[in-house]
Amino acid sequence: MPLQRTTLNIDDRLSIAKRPFRPRGRAILVIALICFAILIATFSLFNTAQEQQRLRTEQLLSVEAKSFADALTRHMNAHLNEFSVLASEIEKNIPSTYSTWQALVLAHQGNDVHFQALFWAESDRTIRWHYPQNDSEKPEQFPFDVLGDGNAQLLRMDVESLHDWHIAHPIYTQNRNTPNYYLGGTLDIAEHISHLASDYLDTFQKLTLYAASDGHVVFGDIPPNEAATGQVGLTLTGASPEFIVTLWSTPDSEHFLSLPMLIYISGLVVTILVGIALYLIEINLMARKAEQATITRLQNEIAQRKDVENQLHFIANHDPLTYLPNRHALLNHIQHTINKTLSATRTLSLICIDIDNIKEINDLHGYRIHDDVLTTVAKRLQNLLPPQAYLARTSDEHFVMLRTDLSPLEAEVHAKQVRLTVEKECHAQGVTVLPSCAIGVAYRYDTSMPAHELLRHADTAAHRARQLVHHRVVVFQMAMRDHLQQKRDIEYTIRKAIQGNELMLHFQPQVDLKTQRIVGIEALVRWQDEGGTIISPDTIVRTAEDTGLMQQLGNWIINKALEHYAMLLTEGCAPPMLAINVSGHEFQDSFLADTILQAIERHQVPAERVQIELTEQVFIENLEQNQQTLHTLTEAGISLAIDDFGTGYSSLAYLKHFPVDTVKIDRSFIDQLPECKDDAVICQAVIGMADLLGLKVVAEGVEHQAQKDYLAQIGCRYIQGHLYYPAMGVDQLLTLLKQHTPYQRYSNS
Ligand code: C2E
Ligand code: CA
Ligand code: CA
Repeated sequence: MPLQRTTLNIDDRLSIAKRPFRPRGRAILVIALICFAILIATFSLFNTAQEQQRLRTEQLLSVEAKSFADALTRHMNAHLNEFSVLASEIEKNIPSTYSTWQALVLAHQGNDVHFQALFWAESDRTIRWHYPQNDSEKPEQFPFDVLGDGNAQLLRMDVESLHDWHIAHPIYTQNRNTPNYYLGGTLDIAEHISHLASDYLDTFQKLTLYAASDGHVVFGDIPPNEAATGQVGLTLTGASPEFIVTLWSTPDSEHFLSLPMLIYISGLVVTILVGIALYLIEINLMARKAEQATITRLQNEIAQRKDVENQLHFIANHDPLTYLPNRHALLNHIQHTINKTLSATRTLSLICIDIDNIKEINDLHGYRIHDDVLTTVAKRLQNLLPPQAYLARTSDEHFVMLRTDLSPLEAEVHAKQVRLTVEKECHAQGVTVLPSCAIGVAYRYDTSMPAHELLRHADTAAHRARQLVHHRVVVFQMAMRDHLQQKRDIEYTIRKAIQGNELMLHFQPQVDLKTQRIVGIEALVRWQDEGGTIISPDTIVRTAEDTGLMQQLGNWIINKALEHYAMLLTEGCAPPMLAINVSGHEFQDSFLADTILQAIERHQVPAERVQIELTEQVFIENLEQNQQTLHTLTEAGISLAIDDFGTGYSSLAYLKHFPVDTVKIDRSFIDQLPECKDDAVICQAVIGMADLLGLKVVAEGVEHQAQKDYLAQIGCRYIQGHLYYPAMGVDQLLTLLKQHTPYQRYSNS
């Protein structure tokens, strides 16, 4: 089950947190459009309001122009009235002197009524008096026509100018047909208009008078185009208007905080506010989106982590090949079951199934078939399981079944059934394999027994079952544990001894019966523990093999043996041959030949002096690889001996493949010589056969004279045994060899 990786690391998360929120381009565009729309609305509102205000202003100005025109008319009428009154007064009482006339005139010139000039003319229009009495401005003749005969009337002299407007009044004293005198007056209309305007109009209002006939300006300035205007016709002399009174105000004169301006400013403010608000909303949205994205990513990450945790938990608790729970999970489950069913302690049983040929299957057929066989076995076991049972794979070759529903006897019966199920042919990738198993059964007989103890018991029982050939279902017993414990203790101390270089080598001489000379020595490993107990080399070698230390031990033995032998050579007392035992395990090391040859080289021992002792098994198993190693050794000059001959295949047929030099008859055939006929026959046959093949024969473990005699009698030439010499330490050997005079001549050859 592959582990999935998490996608978000801590830097990613920090970068999300730190990232400034930039509004999207689209959002900016939308905000700009909205602001633009508001601005357009503002402008159109502003324009409308300005137009309306202009209209209102113009209406107002029109009204004011009208009232101004009325006022001016009234003002002029007041002058006309005054003039008429003056005329009628004069008519009633014609002044005889200038001063009388002047007094009358003065009485009628006041604040509101003001004539620029007044005249008194004779019937022939010759001006007699005028007021004010300024000669330079005094006309000679009454200057204008008199219209009508009664009321005073303005006689417009000159429309171009508002100055020198005249009124004339005939004065009758005798008859009504011919006037006797004339009263005339001159008015400066412009002055009156200015005067009135200063009273009537506001400072920001301007007055312009156009001539109604051709529209040219007769008073005031031409108003600018953008100015609001109010107009009204003004009639001063006749029936139709002679003037157009125009009132106007400059845009500058408008109040700054007018409605359009307020609308304009408000529009701008609203645009800015809306823009800012939308921008903030967008940023807020972005932040929320980013936040949401972060939350989603974190949630994904959490989910992924949970997945990974689950996967890790699964991996930590399951065997990757069969997906069954592993040892760890099994122990937890047992403990859990124990906690849950305290009362059911008695029925808690473990069945440990040890597929004991699985390593061979691997070696022979490869790991794929090895795996297929294991998965098939796992399926078979699962099919056997009742619902409440639990199956785990605790190591490469071990399956363990937990049952809570069986009595001890039932568990044993069930275990046998399991064995039958497992030991059926498996067909894997075109190969048929027959798995075999040993089964150990353990019960929880003690309520204080922890889970691991129960599992250990099942393992021990399975281990015991593995050593049996038949009835390979074993129920755990306490004695097994003690035995196993002892074994483990020994293993432990031996391992320590091997690693701590506490071992030593003894040498057992081999004797030539013909010459009574020592012809060789066999190196035998020894170890004495701290308590003085001698541990058998068999145990040492087996322990080293079981614990993977054999190579290390073998190298040590080879080196040490050659070192001692080199010393004997130096001392001049070395026997012709040194025999070194090499176990089948050591032979699996493809560098063995090199190791031996290098050691020989290093210690400068002639290869012809070295013999390697091997059991029959080594010759037969792994024929090809071993053959190569053996040939390398023999080609270098090393001789080979078959050790323990007769205990294995007892066939010399294979010898043709190997350059073997010596056969060593196993001690078990020598023991009961010469009484045991079978052994005697075997020994004779071996010696005869060896003779034919030109091999030397060494009889091992000769303890008695009778044995020796018999062996000598049947043609055995070489003897190794306590009758002559036991295995001894190197010092003792040196002493022996030095005393052993017949031997001397071999020392340097
Ligand atoms: P092996 O190679 O057959 O060694 C001969 C064994 O017989 C030795 O036992 C030796 O002490 C014993 N023996 C010799 N003569 C007599 C006798 O007259 N009477 C009796 N009762 N025993 C006798 P040891 O030393 O206990 O070795 C046992 C086995 O351990 C050896 O059997 C050999 O297979 C293995 N072994 C010993 N040393 C080494 C070693 O250095 N390397 C390897 N690979 N195996 C070794
Ligand atoms: Ca031997
Ligand atoms: Ca032997």
